[in-house]
Amino acid sequence: MPNLSRRDFLKIGGLTLLSLSANPLKPHAEDQQPNFTAPLIWHGSRRFKRIAFTYDDCYLLYRMHTLEELLDQYPEFKVTFFPVGAKLLNLEEQDAGIWKRLVAKGHEIGCHSFEHVNIGVMSPSGALADYDKWYAALTQVLGEEYPVRFVRPPYDIISPTLDILCQERGLVAALFSVGGGGEPEIVFNAIKKAQGGDIVQMHIRTDDYNSSVLAFPWLKENNWELATMSKLYADYLQEEINPPGCALDTGNDLTRTCAE
Ligand SMILES: [Zn+2]
Repeated sequence: MPNLSRRDFLKIGGLTLLSLSANPLKPHAEDQQPNFTAPLIWHGSRRFKRIAFTYDDCYLLYRMHTLEELLDQYPEFKVTFFPVGAKLLNLEEQDAGIWKRLVAKGHEIGCHSFEHVNIGVMSPSGALADYDKWYAALTQVLGEEYPVRFVRPPYDIISPTLDILCQERGLVAALFSVGGGGEPEIVFNAIKKAQGGDIVQMHIRTDDYNSSVLAFPWLKENNWELATMSKLYADYLQEEINPPGCALDTGNDLTRTCAE
């Protein structure tokens, strides 16, 4: 987790194990998916003024570069990329070190399948093989093992096979609560109405880049934190394990919460 301290990381690791145990943490009522037993997140804790911007597919190197330049203007903003495996390799060929550079800047990477196939139509063994192929591509471009925590299913399809993949590979299914992908002015208006903990789904496309150009200055002026999926998920787990009335502060440091 690039932007978490070692202590935070260990704590989250323990909490995640807890969430995967025989007595899983109960998801928010509105988040429940019938028959889906692996962890699944639509949004993080509503208690914090944090929002996660996520960028799927990552097909276009040019748009990756312009987004990276935009993000460089807001070094405190961290986002999560959900590239397909084929593009991990392809973009690396065109710009050696691109993924390492993004991770070094504190951004996060999650899985979006190797070739954008609906995981729901894969067999369980096929889905595991597809993930392993994606993970091998990630390891190749980063030059080292990376702690992948999230999978965004292609076409946002929640399926029994996705459930098995998450359980077998220790992944959290990452959905979203605010959709990008439209006219930038409309998306910007939706972002202005966002709540703490929202997950915004973007793609590496011109419209979504332009929406980000509009939104980032406004988010900064209005004291929003752009956080990785790991950060948002850590908030979510903290909220789940803290009893009602437990006073969480609004700081960034997980060690200052009731979960001590
Ligand atoms: Zn996609």
